[in-house]
Amino acid sequence: MNRRYFLGAATSAIAVSARAQGQPRFDLLLKNGHVIDAGNAVDGVMDVAIKDGRIAAVEAGLPSSGAIKSIDVKGLYVTPGLIDLHVHVYNGTGERNSYAGDLSVPPDGFTFRNGVTTVVDAGCSGWRNFEDFKDRIIDRSKTRVLAMLNIVGAGMRGGRYEQNLFDMEGGRTAAMARRFPGVVVGIKTAHFNGPEWTPVEQAVVAGSDAGLPVMVDFGGDRPQRPLYDLLTKKLRPGDIYTHMYSGLRHEQDPVTLGPSKAMLEGRARGIWFDTGTGGGSFKWSLAVPMVKQGFEPDSISTDLHVDSMNSATKNILNVASKMMAIGLSLQEAVAGMTFHPAREVKQAGLGHLSVGAIADLAVLRLQSGRFGFTDMVNTRIDGARKLVAELTVKDGRIVYDLNGMEALPWDAPQGDTRQDGRWTSFARPAPSQADGVTQH
Ligand SMILES: [Zn+2]
Repeated sequence: MNRRYFLGAATSAIAVSARAQGQPRFDLLLKNGHVIDAGNAVDGVMDVAIKDGRIAAVEAGLPSSGAIKSIDVKGLYVTPGLIDLHVHVYNGTGERNSYAGDLSVPPDGFTFRNGVTTVVDAGCSGWRNFEDFKDRIIDRSKTRVLAMLNIVGAGMRGGRYEQNLFDMEGGRTAAMARRFPGVVVGIKTAHFNGPEWTPVEQAVVAGSDAGLPVMVDFGGDRPQRPLYDLLTKKLRPGDIYTHMYSGLRHEQDPVTLGPSKAMLEGRARGIWFDTGTGGGSFKWSLAVPMVKQGFEPDSISTDLHVDSMNSATKNILNVASKMMAIGLSLQEAVAGMTFHPAREVKQAGLGHLSVGAIADLAVLRLQSGRFGFTDMVNTRIDGARKLVAELTVKDGRIVYDLNGMEALPWDAPQGDTRQDGRWTSFARPAPSQADGVTQH
């Protein structure tokens, strides 16, 4: 053993012993919550410990003294950070994104307050404008924004662009997707009204080339391209059908009122089904009988945009509460917002609380009362339970705290706040930084 190596080993041994003696093992500890983690088949009261932005332990009885900050979340549910698989966040009025920009919302305004840490933009941009989207929105958002590229090169710019068969190029779309692995996580086709299969076929070309799933909003209902052929022939197992309860394209069997043959055979061969409730894509007259007959969603998503956020959809927790009002268990609803959407877009590092995973979490309150839930034709179902986000953690730090459960009373001793930045985004600036700086 040479001397340099020996010194290095000795130094690190001293560091380890200092940690063991004095410093807490964890940055943040959420104690006594009911953990629902479908990825690890966890459903019970546990403590969740976080260190360096990662899940460090999920166990019962972890001592509060083991963390810089410990919060008692008794009576609340602790889940992986929610993943909204279908949103529109290419917000802005740049000349390259007209329609999507008009209807999109800025992600950070709508995510953390609903327990959401990751969103998937469903095709606002195509290969021509994805880099603009990435530069202006994805790279500047606190929310983790992933994207499905629209098979239309110009993206969702409105009818004139989205019906243009000459701007649907699987090869160029795949080439852009492959430049941004882990950010571009799928291919989207949407809003197409013609009789041709071109958008679906080119989306599958792109998806196959780039190793990504395709999500389909099947657009206008055309006899030349029936839903049965889409789900049993054109799409591949692992592709995603969104707006599953819209009833606009024969999702429902007219006799049984349950799922149509197309939907049943599609599910049997591995197509995923997504709610994407949106502004005009969810009807109780479909959802109630279909869920009753066992046709539940794989993923619970919003199709969030400026219309849907103010009409029946509102937010992902409202959509989940709707599904619970018609028969889904809380555990199924949580899986539909965490483990399942991560699996659909092949993001193995998200949607679960395995030790070592990214520490994204939602702490949810299940409220009891009388709540009304509406659909696209403005009919209502009443429910007795509604989910609300109390606390959201992204990359190991608290980013949303509805009732300030992390904060100390203003007139209590505040102690040493120098380590607060390790567990909260609301940490006060250190005294040297605060001096002489005007605070807003
Ligand atoms: Zn959409």
